[in-house]
Amino acid sequence: MDTIIVKADLSNEWYVPEVWEKNMSHAGRVIREGGLVAFPTETVYGLGGNALDKRAAEKIYRAKGRPSDNPLIVHISRISQAENIAVNISHDARRLMEEFWPGPLTIILDKADIVPKETTGGLDTVALRMPNHPVALKLIEEAGVPVAAPSANLSGKPSPTTAGHVAEDMMGRINMIVDGGAVAIGIESTIIDMTGAVPTILRPGFVTVEMLKKVIGAVEVDKAVDAKSIEEIGGDYRPKAPGMKYRHYAPKAELIMFEGSVENVAAAINRKLKEAEKNGKKAAVICTDETESLYKNGCIKSIGTRAEEETIAYNLYHLLREFDDMEVDYIYGETFYGTGLGQAVMNRLIKAAGYRLEQV
Ligand code: AMP
Ligand code: MG
Repeated sequence: MDTIIVKADLSNEWYVPEVWEKNMSHAGRVIREGGLVAFPTETVYGLGGNALDKRAAEKIYRAKGRPSDNPLIVHISRISQAENIAVNISHDARRLMEEFWPGPLTIILDKADIVPKETTGGLDTVALRMPNHPVALKLIEEAGVPVAAPSANLSGKPSPTTAGHVAEDMMGRINMIVDGGAVAIGIESTIIDMTGAVPTILRPGFVTVEMLKKVIGAVEVDKAVDAKSIEEIGGDYRPKAPGMKYRHYAPKAELIMFEGSVENVAAAINRKLKEAEKNGKKAAVICTDETESLYKNGCIKSIGTRAEEETIAYNLYHLLREFDDMEVDYIYGETFYGTGLGQAVMNRLIKAAGYRLEQV
């Protein structure tokens, strides 16, 4: 299959409204006719297809190499469209939509019959989100249907934050890539399940627990979110977001995280770097602006500053892809704290590491 790439970056100085309209109308038509289009959102790039067409959903799973029991998020361009896709929408769920949409919050609700089970990975619930990105909103409007879209990476690879990342994974596998420039947030949406007795966070993201509690009061966090080992989750526990059971976001290199005081972590990582050098292996370090100077040898990359966790979330995935390009054998990472946005970063890193965490 030939993959067409169209430019749709509104911040580009060459932006011409008529060309943008034409490109977006073309992309919408591809989705309406059953094809697949990758597009930017404020979180990461999505791989979109008609959410109401089971064949389009199947194509998405195939293009990503994603297990078909891992459901897709359905994207809408107006809050009112939620009524067609979900049923039993509670007062609190509506308050979340009003407060956080358009934005990086995905809400799990009971699905309406119109949504095929292929889109929801066989579940009776549906994940819904209204993204805060002009290209995504325009694409959904032009398609005239809700757009099912997981992240536009091959299953198991880090989520794409630029159209270039999408092209690396998806050229020849999908119909079109809409290049809207780099995304703003860089980490996937927060997922909250509103179908149970107590609202529960299934995946942490830019919208934090604290922000949600301010709007709807009690909010729980699923135990798989902050787990630091498989044992902690428990062998017979079935994660509520099926995606959480798969190794995700993984770089090619072996990633190991280190937890302890700043001095102990730096000493342990420096020891590992020396060992790697001795064995003729290429090693890299994920550190922060505050700790960068503590490391010697190897490829040392700051992921951002701890004073502004947004910078760390923003750099996470493209740093992992950079390490892939450099073909490093090992990546040693510092840990981040489980509050605010740090919770989302730590959740992704620990899974990228396949739960390899050393206490030092
Ligand atoms: P992605 O779009 O690639 O970030 O993946 C979508 C995530 O949403 C996966 O982790 C899914 O397991 C989760 N998800 C989608 N639909 C549901 C649902 N109905 N219930 C629980 N989790 C869901
Ligand atoms: Mg994903």
